[in-house]
Amino acid sequence: MDKCIFCKVVKGEIPSYILYQDDMATAFLDINPVTSGHILVIPNKHFRRIDSIKDENVMKGLMNAIIEMANLLVKSGICRDYTVLQDNGINAQQDIMHTHFHIIPRHHNEKVQFHLPTNEKESSENSLNHTYNRLKSTKSNY
Ligand SMILES: [Zn+2]
Repeated sequence: MDKCIFCKVVKGEIPSYILYQDDMATAFLDINPVTSGHILVIPNKHFRRIDSIKDENVMKGLMNAIIEMANLLVKSGICRDYTVLQDNGINAQQDIMHTHFHIIPRHHNEKVQFHLPTNEKESSENSLNHTYNRLKSTKSNY
């Protein structure tokens, strides 16, 4: 992906605040932070979405880098609490089409709030059973 900004970060083609890099993943400061210490973790290889990642080494490398960076934030004293966030696709508000995980430091009494309202209709037993059975039957047909 020649024009992908995150591929350029991985290759060192644009200046960035890289905090971690191994064979599988790279982590760096988000230059548009939601809070101070906001970190992005990305696979070195271009994957648009997490469901397109089939390589177990990439999966493990990403989770390893996320946990490393969470520990770094806590050990640095920047935060004790943090949110890990990851969007896939336009409807999920994915902005850069290279898979990325946000690690966002959270603090007492800050203005940032993520509100995930329960969909009352979808929380009925009928609906939950329907969804559960759909997912279970799909899983057994892979
Ligand atoms: Zn890319």
